[in-house]
Amino acid sequence: MHQPIDIEALCAERGLRITDQRRVIARVLSEAEDHPDVEKLHQRAVAIDPRISIATVYRTVRLFEEAGILDRHDFGDGRARYEAAPEAHHDHLIDVETGKVIEFVDPELEALQRQIAERLGYRLVDHRMELYGVRLEREN
Ligand SMILES: [Zn+2]
Repeated sequence: MHQPIDIEALCAERGLRITDQRRVIARVLSEAEDHPDVEKLHQRAVAIDPRISIATVYRTVRLFEEAGILDRHDFGDGRARYEAAPEAHHDHLIDVETGKVIEFVDPELEALQRQIAERLGYRLVDHRMELYGVRLEREN
């Protein structure tokens, strides 16, 4: 589900001015296969350009988020995590012991959510679904 998304190209499309530091942060975000928080993004960005401050990372992710390029998630630990806004919708299951985030899509769940909204008199335009779990013991 994490096809690389070219964030720099999206910035250009949306008329965002792209500086060298923003380009590095965009690249780190494009290459992320997890759902990094700002601290993790900063660690990866300074490995490429040591001049990038954490404040710059904060400002840049907020800018990208406001432009609809990034999705922000809160997976229950109080830290905002980011991923490039996916072209195809997916939901998340969070392993509460390890913090691992697993992506999934379930057509029945999608349909059920639409039905619930309709029953309540609404047309569904968006939703967030986060499942929190611990791994089942495997019997073999
Ligand atoms: Zn995701």
